[in-house]
Amino acid sequence: MNWAGMQLTEKECRAAAVSSVSLAQATQVAGLQQNGRRWVCQRCGERQLRALPAGGQYCPSCVGLDRITSGTTLYRFAAPPITWQGQMSWQGVLTPAQQEAQRGVLASVAAGRDHLLHAVTGAGKTEMLFAVAAAVLRQGRRVAWATPRVDVVRELAPRLASAFQGTPLVARYGGAPWPSVDAQLVVLTTHQLLRYRQAFGLIIVDEVDAFPYPQTPMLA
Ligand SMILES: [Zn+2]
Repeated sequence: MNWAGMQLTEKECRAAAVSSVSLAQATQVAGLQQNGRRWVCQRCGERQLRALPAGGQYCPSCVGLDRITSGTTLYRFAAPPITWQGQMSWQGVLTPAQQEAQRGVLASVAAGRDHLLHAVTGAGKTEMLFAVAAAVLRQGRRVAWATPRVDVVRELAPRLASAFQGTPLVARYGGAPWPSVDAQLVVLTTHQLLRYRQAFGLIIVDEVDAFPYPQTPMLA
């Protein structure tokens, strides 16, 4: 299913040409839900909603995607395990220091822990993470590779496609075409992560100290 793990508004479902069969299988939730006295956006978690002139309210935080109002239904699509038919085709060699860093990340991922990999630009962070992504793909789980910048998404997508041959991959950013495959590898801008829910076995977040993470609670 091309939209596995996604949560989409009705308008987005139409734009993505989601089939009626898939739509019927999706879990439907109200886009804004009351939690105690507070209303909460079910896509991004925002609690500071704004009133609409005509009544009801909307979420200002994730309004850059399709707007969520009191009347919006979110369609959540399951992300069942998927057998990885691809391979890690990258043939490069890591330095001993990179291997050491990679072992640390592998151990964290195996234990289900977050891991901050701190390295300067050009240190080969991406290559260090190839084996980590492969380990998760082998388990039948999907991998997200997020970065704040669209140009990095565009640059990374072909690199990953060549490093993971035979792996269905999509690139997601504002204005990108909707997924045309059931992607196991999703390269995306950070905001696009809001369109996914419980979709990934691993989320790699590039430039975690860069704009817009620290200033943006929903991306924290
Ligand atoms: Zn929101």
